[in-house]
Amino acid sequence: MNLRLNGFSLSLDNAKCGDCYISHAHSDHAAAAGRKGKRLLASAETLALLGKEGREAVHAHDSVKLRLINAGHMLGSTQLVAESDEGKFVYTGDFKVEDGLTVKGAEVEACNYLLMESTYSSPSTAFPPREKVREELVRWVKKEAELNTVLIGGYSLGKAQELVATLNEGGLVPLVHPRIEQVCKIYSRFGVRLERIPLDSPEGEELKKKNFVGVMPFHLVDRELAYDVSRLCGKGVATALATGWANTFRYPVDKVFQLSDHADFGEMLDYLERAKPGKIWCCYGDSEYLARALCAKGYNASAFSEAAQRTLADEVGTGGAAVEVSAGKGIGVQV
Ligand SMILES: [Zn+2]
Repeated sequence: MNLRLNGFSLSLDNAKCGDCYISHAHSDHAAAAGRKGKRLLASAETLALLGKEGREAVHAHDSVKLRLINAGHMLGSTQLVAESDEGKFVYTGDFKVEDGLTVKGAEVEACNYLLMESTYSSPSTAFPPREKVREELVRWVKKEAELNTVLIGGYSLGKAQELVATLNEGGLVPLVHPRIEQVCKIYSRFGVRLERIPLDSPEGEELKKKNFVGVMPFHLVDRELAYDVSRLCGKGVATALATGWANTFRYPVDKVFQLSDHADFGEMLDYLERAKPGKIWCCYGDSEYLARALCAKGYNASAFSEAAQRTLADEVGTGGAAVEVSAGKGIGVQV
């Protein structure tokens, strides 16, 4: 998607234009970071996580004022605010309203036009309060750790750091996988306190001989890993994952905690109540489903998904090229 505003074009989490906005460091939003010759607009934290500090920034534009505000999704995640005489446009990127331990919840500004992510598009998705999930996780880990080694999986970028902070809050200092340690170091550089011991450090090697609590990349934690660790080290192993999809999919682990870095439907409504946008476009996930649910609540919402774009392209006969959804005279979002 690109934002087109008063003759200024900016890629939103892709690399199509010369000027590219990156909302946060997850790879599905950061394609522009890997492309040469792109001017980037992103927070200092996001550039550090992507290893792109010092890259040329997007130039200021006379008639469009750009600002970044917190999105609450992970360290450095932002929303884009673009203001012009057409009004105020906000793109949320991935966002969460509730506070986490490593990042505050999203800021909400009143706006005219909102492009909102719809990863969890179903009105029936309602996450339990994150504080309660964190308490439950610590209780479960402490109980399991009396007899077993405990391995908890979460995405290496963002969720794993939230898990380390959760365990710290419960008085535990976990061992962390090297990939997670790399990210923890950058969190620490930006002032997020994370007590942990790298798995491959001398201290970690020593602690591995006894039962330990480990935070691991999401895709490594399953029954196979539990079996291998158990066989190699001769100890019991309990496994868990942290994901917002806990009630949607089955995972090959002992326990799944519904801990998400995205907004659920209730959080989206909370956001919309405060932002009061005149026009909403939904993107990512099942955006058509979310747009319908929001229309049923009285909002002026439509989908901005690849599928919707293709349908629109068929209808207007553009063959999919430069399909554009326009709100005002000079503001639009285009493929
Ligand atoms: Zn993300």
